[in-house]
Amino acid sequence: MTRPKFNRILLKLSGEVLMGKGQFGIDPATTGRVAGEIKKAKEEGYQLCVVVGGGNIFRGIAGAAQGIDRASADYMGMLATVMNALAMQNALEQIGVDTRVQSAIPMASVCEPYIRRRAMRHMEKGRVVIFAAGTGSPYFTTDTTAALRAAEMNCDALFKGTSVDGVYNADPKKVEGATRYESLSFDRVLADNLRVMDASAVALCRDNDIPIVVFNIRDEGNLTQVLAGDGTATIVQN
Ligand code: UDP
Repeated sequence: MTRPKFNRILLKLSGEVLMGKGQFGIDPATTGRVAGEIKKAKEEGYQLCVVVGGGNIFRGIAGAAQGIDRASADYMGMLATVMNALAMQNALEQIGVDTRVQSAIPMASVCEPYIRRRAMRHMEKGRVVIFAAGTGSPYFTTDTTAALRAAEMNCDALFKGTSVDGVYNADPKKVEGATRYESLSFDRVLADNLRVMDASAVALCRDNDIPIVVFNIRDEGNLTQVLAGDGTATIVQN
């Protein structure tokens, strides 16, 4: 099956991707490699914006489990995403890719505030916009942020870069013989509770007709291959 080609995409990078082989934090070699993938895609003419997660540093739900008030813990999680965004910006600028970070929680001396029209303009000028601090509200995730920003930025698709090459019927790291889906409908993902992204993110993409492409960002050259409709991935669409 050939997948559609896309021009403007939102790339979601979870914190897990940025920590590379480590158990915590940011691995500069990994951010450098991911930046290289983004650069390649830009050179081929694609427009990209990025939402970064924060799970490699802090997750609100984990903080709440240790007794921190949930909303405060979520704000800590959002701040973690800002650190990741700055790390990605640095990695991109080191290889000559113009980048802007926009935070949903204004932080004037660190980065720009999130302003949709300004973000659009950056993208039109060929800059990569990295969205930090999630939606700016607790009780959300950066998956939902990714779906929201993809809709706001009129993206053709949401690319979820992970460490597996698509969506499987069982965890391929644990279950031998688990099979990968080529394509899935949003309704199937929600009905079967398949772990693609959280349910609110999937519903937002479904309602706004934005396909989700799940692919392995760790394989070199994969982002551009999947963008071109080749390579291994799972597409979730209406
Ligand atoms: N978060 C939040 N609101 C948002 C986005 C994120 O409160 O709109 C917090 C939440 O605590 C979350 C943390 O930021 O656990 C890090 O984001 P996420 O867990 O989505 O990161 P990922 O799993 O992609 O690394």
